[in-house]
Amino acid sequence: MNGLKEGWFSELSSLWPGISLSLQVNEVLHSEKSDYQDILVLQTKSHGRALILDGIIQCTESDEFAYQEMISFLPLCSHPSPKKVLIVGGGDGGVAREVAKHPDVESIVQVEIDSHVLDVSKKFLPFMGAGLTNPKLTLHVGDGFRFMAQHRHEFDVIITDSSDPVGPAVCLFQQSYFESMREALKPGGIVCSQAGTVWANIDIVAQTFQHCHQTFRKASFAYAAVPTYPTGQIGFVLGSLSPETNFKEPLRIFSETELDSFNMNYYSAEVHRAAFILPRFARKALDEIVSNVTDEANTGDR
Ligand code: SAM
Repeated sequence: MNGLKEGWFSELSSLWPGISLSLQVNEVLHSEKSDYQDILVLQTKSHGRALILDGIIQCTESDEFAYQEMISFLPLCSHPSPKKVLIVGGGDGGVAREVAKHPDVESIVQVEIDSHVLDVSKKFLPFMGAGLTNPKLTLHVGDGFRFMAQHRHEFDVIITDSSDPVGPAVCLFQQSYFESMREALKPGGIVCSQAGTVWANIDIVAQTFQHCHQTFRKASFAYAAVPTYPTGQIGFVLGSLSPETNFKEPLRIFSETELDSFNMNYYSAEVHRAAFILPRFARKALDEIVSNVTDEANTGDR
């Protein structure tokens, strides 16, 4: 089932049982089945173009900036000098577009499993796909899990912009993936991974946070408001090799003029700080994980 019925697309998934976001569709621009997933590009009535993979909304033209800016700038502004960045997934190109804006970033490596997503984004979603042709970017087509295991002490920041934990992305939510990321980082390195929403997937959030907390010296969780994601939110787990990292306080603060010049419309230092303030039920769920870890040296920072 591709979720299309009577001029509407509905996002149906067992990841959020009993609830579904629907977008009114003007035109189906592209539909195919790649080796990895169903790829659908829609011209919606109210949200511009939308990329759907395996029936799940990846991004819409109207609000993708919120997600792309936050998953990129939360870790980049938490690192003292993010020169070399790895992106895993991110086939639409939006994260590459954002990461390239940071003035300290000299090179970006990206590994995306599905070449068809890259082609479709360049052709139908140029507002994001243009990020894939940035001169700072070296693009690989392959499995991010395998790629990670083959790299040691190479990256300052690793951003995992994966689809949800079904299909090819399942491995990117496992403890062993977090351990591989730790090995692929340079000293003081930072990771940031898409981690679901506290309203619909508190179990996925808690499990992903636990992997991160057990693997890194510092771990934290932040979230952003993105209206076309399930429950209107998406979370990020962040981990650091440095015990000095305080994710809540950005090290690099850009002025309003700089943010305007980067064409950034969601992220700011204030939004960065606020993103780590959790509602009580979510804070308690993550606190429980921290209190279960007896090793004092590995205490989380939320
Ligand atoms: N912002 C989106 C979200 O949270 O819904 C994610 C966007 S991006 C399109 C996700 C990408 O991850 C997809 O293009 C998918 O092909 C890629 N992907 C999934 N599993 C992967 C893996 N094991 N290695 C590399 N890329 C992967």
